[in-house]
Amino acid sequence: MSADKHNKQRIVILGGGTAGWITANALIDAWGEKGADISLIESPAIGTVGVGEGSTPRLKIFFDELGIEEAEWMPRCNATYKNGISFVDWSTRPGFGRYFHPFTSQVDQHTKTAFYLNAYARRLGVDVHAHPDRFFLGARLSENHQGPKPDENFPFLVEYGYHFDAHLVGEFLQEKATARGVKHVAAQVADVNQSPDGDIASLLTDDGVTIEGDFFVDCSGFRATLMQKTLQVPFRSFAENLFNDSAVVLPTEQRSEIGSQTVSTALKHGWAWEIPLTQRIGNGYVYASSFCSDFDAETELRTHLGLLDSDVEARHLKMKVGRVEKHWERNCLAIGLSQGFIEPLEATALNLVCNTVYDFIETVDRTGFADEGRNGFNDRINESFEKVRDYIVAHYIMNTRDDTDYWRQNGANTNVPDRLQQILQIWKSGQNLSQEMEKQQIQSTYTAMSWHCLLAGYGFYPETRDVQGAEQFAGKVDMAEIDEFVRRCAMNFRSQNEQLQMLRA
Ligand SMILES: Cc1cc2nc3c(=O)[nH]c(=O)nc-3n(C[C@H](O)[C@H](O)[C@H](O)COP(=O)(O)OP(=O)(O)OC[C@H]3O[C@@H](n4cnc5c(N)ncnc54)[C@H](O)[C@@H]3O)c2cc1C
Repeated sequence: MSADKHNKQRIVILGGGTAGWITANALIDAWGEKGADISLIESPAIGTVGVGEGSTPRLKIFFDELGIEEAEWMPRCNATYKNGISFVDWSTRPGFGRYFHPFTSQVDQHTKTAFYLNAYARRLGVDVHAHPDRFFLGARLSENHQGPKPDENFPFLVEYGYHFDAHLVGEFLQEKATARGVKHVAAQVADVNQSPDGDIASLLTDDGVTIEGDFFVDCSGFRATLMQKTLQVPFRSFAENLFNDSAVVLPTEQRSEIGSQTVSTALKHGWAWEIPLTQRIGNGYVYASSFCSDFDAETELRTHLGLLDSDVEARHLKMKVGRVEKHWERNCLAIGLSQGFIEPLEATALNLVCNTVYDFIETVDRTGFADEGRNGFNDRINESFEKVRDYIVAHYIMNTRDDTDYWRQNGANTNVPDRLQQILQIWKSGQNLSQEMEKQQIQSTYTAMSWHCLLAGYGFYPETRDVQGAEQFAGKVDMAEIDEFVRRCAMNFRSQNEQLQMLRA
């Protein structure tokens, strides 16, 4: 059957969080002109999860695909630019108390070989500078509160993400989708009707309206009303690798100089994020409830932020970490928290949302709604969840804190996914990480550069010692030259404040 025929179906999206509205925009953009009839139902009474305020560069691609300019959406959503993420206090190894994970830039091509060389030498025990930060432009920009958009005469591409107010992005995307023809229904779904063959036939709202559809998209958040509750697709928990299941959230006032990075600081039973928006700083503490009560977590976050005596209200959330076994089952697709969630340490959830919806569109355009396309799609999305999980788990395995059981048990966790074990083995045995990842066909969402940053950033090196043949590394990398190169490149970037002002001009 032709894809066009399917595109003319009635598609019903349940849920108007960020996932629902990203999906609505992507579907109307792809299939609106082909006659698809798309509606989105959401319950204002249930509301959205209200977090998820940091992105990867994938969100820029999404806005670019829809032809939406930064000058239009960023000021409306209190958005700022993001160069990457700093990890603070995760490692106790001297000299490695913090490190920065940058989004890449073409400039990094000039310095990363030097970094790899020093990291390689240091893995053999040679005493050279092998912390990532001095090698990367993004780290320098973040340190100086500079934004990632170069002045016009700087000819190199720089990737970046954003920070934004999740509610405002939802409102903005709703406006865009409805202007293009997506029907918006504000109602709570009380029941789901299935046809005799098990497909979803219609949704029944609590005011008695039946909404029929040919295809349904479950964007109902952690409730997973269609995929998990109705179709009973099993959920595969990642709790054996990732202990965190709770978060507490608190805003603080923005500082005069707006930051251009997310900061992730390890606390006693998890980690705290700091996300700078234009009007406020979003803060949250992600922790494991089996190690720490909600009250203790809130107290610790307040202490960390200097808000112990403040009456600013905190919001508590529960998280379900893992993924469904199938993201597309029968006539239903799950996108967003309903399909799964890997805790927010690298802000990957919206990345997975975008990848899921665009892969789905591409699959249907290619194969229609046949099983053949669906099985391949489910395999790919499962794989992408697991690749992200591996990288997140690496943070916990690498930690060297021993102040609480939480950190000790994380560091000693033997549930290490196979792909991660392979990567750690390559690193420890002093092999070339980039080459070996390619040779052993270790597929990862994260590049060899990201893996180098993580492993080197935690100081995962043997003790330095007298190494035979060490002289071959002497003078190979001149750190003063690297510093000067990065400094000169950084001169082409204005402060985050200035870059945001230019958007409003
Ligand atoms: C603590 C935390 C931090 C996070 N940080 C990040 C981050 O930095 N970066 C990132 O990319 N992601 C992050 N995420 C994930 C991110 O918040 C979500 O991926 C994103 O907000 C999308 O959520 P959603 O739309 O799937 O669900 P939700 O926002 O929960 O939306 C669910 C929608 O379904 C509707 N609904 C549910 N049931 C019904 C019903 N019966 N009838 C009608 N409507 C219904 C609700 O009203 C709502 O509109 C974080 C998540 C958590 C928990």
